[in-house]
Amino acid sequence: MFLAACASPAPSTAPVEPESVASLLRAAEAEPDDALAAEMLRRALSIDPQRPDVHEQLFRRTGRAARGAAVAAEPVALAEAHPYDPWARLRAGRAERDAGRPEAAREHWRWALFTADLDPASAQAAFVELARLGEGARRTAQVPVHLFADESVRAHAGWRFRLRLSLHAVSEALAPILGTALVPASIQGFDAEDVGAGMAELTAAFQRRGQPDPPRGMLVLLTERYAPARGRSRKLGEAQFLGRRLIARLKEGEILSRVLAHEVLHLYGAVHLSERVDSLMNPTGGEWVLRAPNAAILKQTRKRRFGPGGLERNVLPFVDIDATIDAYLAVIGANLALRRAGIQEVLDDVSTPRARAQRLRSVAQLDPHLGDVCSFTAGLLWRAQRGPEAVRLFDTAAALYGPRTPEGRTSAARADSLLQFLQRTVPAPP
Ligand SMILES: [Zn+2]
Repeated sequence: MFLAACASPAPSTAPVEPESVASLLRAAEAEPDDALAAEMLRRALSIDPQRPDVHEQLFRRTGRAARGAAVAAEPVALAEAHPYDPWARLRAGRAERDAGRPEAAREHWRWALFTADLDPASAQAAFVELARLGEGARRTAQVPVHLFADESVRAHAGWRFRLRLSLHAVSEALAPILGTALVPASIQGFDAEDVGAGMAELTAAFQRRGQPDPPRGMLVLLTERYAPARGRSRKLGEAQFLGRRLIARLKEGEILSRVLAHEVLHLYGAVHLSERVDSLMNPTGGEWVLRAPNAAILKQTRKRRFGPGGLERNVLPFVDIDATIDAYLAVIGANLALRRAGIQEVLDDVSTPRARAQRLRSVAQLDPHLGDVCSFTAGLLWRAQRGPEAVRLFDTAAALYGPRTPEGRTSAARADSLLQFLQRTVPAPP
């Protein structure tokens, strides 16, 4: 991991024994000289590059480069003196590239992305440089991510770096699937105070914060509130299906979070498969693998955007409609619950609507996103001029949501209006 490389320590004469992260951190805190303290902190990071509190201290000691210093200072030395400054990293990378050291150049530019929130313009330029230097095959796009931490996360020293480290770890883990770099666009707190630990309550507290959502980018809410083993608060995360907001519960001190990766993939349209299948998209378990059905979905959705305008502007223009329909119909069919009940069987069922709805509801309990999946796929079917299938799948979505829920009513209304449209436009058989 590239973060390990930041910490190549210079030979030191400082009396620091024994060498542990804790002792180095303590010594650095007591050290009045910034350069000496920074050296100790670099040594601490060479032992453990994933310590947010050490990164935070090193950032405090090094800060950003004065922009006026550009003319005088040698770019690589300037970046070493200000390792978290994307602008300094951008220039150092260019100097290394010009000197024929592409790997060193990449290292600086990846650093610029790690702290992109500190200078988004320089980080963007570093991303372009990385793509030019051949990293584009792996990363075709960068997605800005706005990180919001509640009080429980902010209680830890270095929480901003913890969020950057977590995002970086998930970005690296998902890069082979998404071909995308997730970069921090902003890091902020939100106050949830005494609302409890439930995902819905925390999200509602976030929405009450009195600020408009940033117009572009993913919105990632993070909490470390204790989740009781039972009850509504026990959920570990929640994401809008193909939307742009998620919330994830981190374990205490956790950097690489499976829950965060799982919820990010929901934003890309991935769905739960079966509790019996080892998969990152299984809400329980510890697996990181992705199974073929979700891989097929993500292959279509990985180029989605996170701007204003919802599905119409951020997802549909970037997917192959027919391939996406196939991927979702396969998933709907492959879902354990639906395999048991057999969605096709349910769809083709000639029994009463009431019996059909009952069976679908029992299926729905196994995946809260299944209504969204059916509704989205129904929309695609309609676009693909497969009207009768669209109507049936909107009906299915309505039953999955539950006929009395707002989403259920919307889906039922769409099924009705599409059906009326079809009846008006398709001539009745003689
Ligand atoms: Zn999930």
